[in-house]
Amino acid sequence: MRNKVVKFGGSSLASAEQFKKVGEIIRSDETRRYVVPSAPGKRYSTDIKVTDMLYDCYRAASEGENIDKKMMRIQMRYQEIIEGLNLDLSLEEEFSVITENFKKQIGKDYAASRGEYLNGIIMANYLGYEFVDPAGYIFFGEDGILDAEYTQKCLSERLCGIERAVIPGFYGSDKKGNVKTFSRGGSDVTGSLVAKAVSADLYENWTDVSGFLVTDPRIVDNPEVISTITYKELRELAYMGATVLHEDAVFPLRKEGIPINIRNTNRPLDKGTMIVESTCNKPKYIITGIAGKKGFAAINIEKDMMNTEIGFGRRVMQVFEENGLSFEHVPSGIDTMTVFVHQDEFADKEQNVIAGLHRAVQPDHIDLEADLALIAVVGRGMRRNRGTAATIFTALAENHINIKMIDQGSSELNIIIGVENRDFEAATRTIYDAFVK
Ligand code: ASP
Repeated sequence: MRNKVVKFGGSSLASAEQFKKVGEIIRSDETRRYVVPSAPGKRYSTDIKVTDMLYDCYRAASEGENIDKKMMRIQMRYQEIIEGLNLDLSLEEEFSVITENFKKQIGKDYAASRGEYLNGIIMANYLGYEFVDPAGYIFFGEDGILDAEYTQKCLSERLCGIERAVIPGFYGSDKKGNVKTFSRGGSDVTGSLVAKAVSADLYENWTDVSGFLVTDPRIVDNPEVISTITYKELRELAYMGATVLHEDAVFPLRKEGIPINIRNTNRPLDKGTMIVESTCNKPKYIITGIAGKKGFAAINIEKDMMNTEIGFGRRVMQVFEENGLSFEHVPSGIDTMTVFVHQDEFADKEQNVIAGLHRAVQPDHIDLEADLALIAVVGRGMRRNRGTAATIFTALAENHINIKMIDQGSSELNIIIGVENRDFEAATRTIYDAFVK
């Protein structure tokens, strides 16, 4: 039978009302057989996520405080959902075990994981699906990193015999049996591991936006949704700060060719964004997305006849390596080379780097510039398409925005533009308007 793995984020499961929407979504398609829930998230903007309540409660326990009230508030969140759904289910016993374990301080990861664990019990009860505790099937190595191979084997053995199951997101365990979580937002990763384990046709990731947006909605009002994006494009945009999915969720699926569909629980008819390995599907606009970050510094190194000095670049980069700095971009001219780094990482090491550069390459001049922003304009549609760069630069010039740096790799998947921090928002809006109308 065909199968889809469906993961629901915290806001999709924050209340009984949200649970009902989720129930309808799952029941409307019988191939939605494996469900990965997050913990209840925020019901309104000032609300607190259950995961954060759990961290706070565990901290209180570790400081010897009485946690009864905090635990009761967490229990109320679940009780409200159970009652709103009219379920014949009590979490009383679960809560007494959890409280004991908090007092025994069995682990912060254990504490946080209970958010998903309890929501999974409710979800399984609500849907009539089998509950599978990932602590027995998702494993982390001694280094704290997911043991992907072993997990794949165990999870797939466990799930292949089950027609319909709920597998809570966010956690697994180490080989000693201690619960261990992924980093925040990690239910996305669980969803992708489950999708891989059952060789799903599709991994649906249900959240509270109708997909991956062309650009940051805090900068552009109501940006359009990207209908199809490739894994490579997503990586470029995610690297520059665009988020909708946990970074580690992509890798397991990319190798298997399983597409991901980002969907909106509150607008289930919207098609959302398809994330795919490759596609003939032409993007609606030449560009797929725009993302960027502020806070870069540029170190500009000048030396006469630099171009004839073999090994110059290597010696420069070695100075950065020795100072534990990773670089972002290195545009160069015949007698100049500029290295872009994250300003906050660079700040403390600045003088060491300058001294190191003087020793390594005896430059004529080193010039530093701070408060720069980088904007990535990404799109598979740019390839062999004339005029993309011209459109960007004309639009920026017309809007009086000075470009400090340009970088385009020969893959033609993206163009990176450096501007001053203060021009960042205006530049992003300008580029968006130039392509998306
Ligand atoms: N509940 C966890 C968090 O808030 C994991 C998740 O929602 O994916 O980060």
